[in-house]
Amino acid sequence: MVEEKKPVLVVLGTGGTISGGGNREGENLGYTAGLVSVETLVGGLPAPSGVVLETRQVAQIDSKNMSSSVWRDLFEAAVAALNRPDVQGVVITHGTDTLEETGFLLSSLLQADKPVVLTCAMRPATAAYPDGPQNLADALQVAACPGARGVMAVCAGRIHDGQHFSKVHTYRLDPFDSGEAGVIGYVEEGRVRCVRPWPRSEPTEHSREEKTVLSTLGKPWPRVEIVLNHAQADGQVVTALLWASRQDGAEPLAGLVLAGTGNGTCSEGLSAALSQASECGVTVWRASRCCQGAVLPTSLDLFPSAGDLPPVKARIALALHLMGLGRGEAVG
Ligand code: ASP
Repeated sequence: MVEEKKPVLVVLGTGGTISGGGNREGENLGYTAGLVSVETLVGGLPAPSGVVLETRQVAQIDSKNMSSSVWRDLFEAAVAALNRPDVQGVVITHGTDTLEETGFLLSSLLQADKPVVLTCAMRPATAAYPDGPQNLADALQVAACPGARGVMAVCAGRIHDGQHFSKVHTYRLDPFDSGEAGVIGYVEEGRVRCVRPWPRSEPTEHSREEKTVLSTLGKPWPRVEIVLNHAQADGQVVTALLWASRQDGAEPLAGLVLAGTGNGTCSEGLSAALSQASECGVTVWRASRCCQGAVLPTSLDLFPSAGDLPPVKARIALALHLMGLGRGEAVG
């Protein structure tokens, strides 16, 4: 009898605390992220029943250093895996610090009819009681789950939509929150319990043209910076950015995201500086430094709203928009 081949889960390693080490024995902090290979991480775990595991080391970084070239390589590796008929799903090991940015980018660009599950840890692999193995085991269960699809993140037994979660805590083992959107579900003792449908892929018009996306992601990204409104903000940061971008050989400033107060507002000084930047051809979008709620358009707005995207995700959305890979304009 010919044995039927089991479906594959591809685990892509990018580094992070989940693969951290080099700390003093048992220490939770003071480690180096991205030392332990994804093969070693996966090697310590049983595969969920009915699937086989394959690993690939895409990068080995601390995610605070995330770059467009790692994102490009990760997108390419995820697409290559998803296009294989024998692949049931993809799991990505990643640092927690920029996990929400990678989740947002992938869910904006991937046509994920299969599950793509990001996971991570708050304690290094060499800690006395690491959280990574449980998170990875849970992520594998979600990726192996029949019918699962879309980009998600799994941490501390909770399943988040790739679009909606943010890191909200510096130390807790459950540092993510999906805010008003809520979680998709939970992993409990190896069982997946969903309270909402799997995330829908919200593809751009380019999503099927993976080669176009890939070659665009491989070119230098337009420079988009975030500026924060706060008491005493006078806009000099924007003036300095404009000045720097005009120097010989400097990368031009293409976009600015305002991390505004409240409903995406800012001081008169910062507003004047943003208007000056806009007159110089810089695209300005408004987000809010509040961690919940959307920036609602008003009749007084000088710049469009980035909707409910927090500044770090609005920055990516604006860069994609400027690269022709966005979902259209800002919302308001
Ligand atoms: N700095 C680490 C990283 O993002 C933090 C973590 O993974 O928790 O790679």
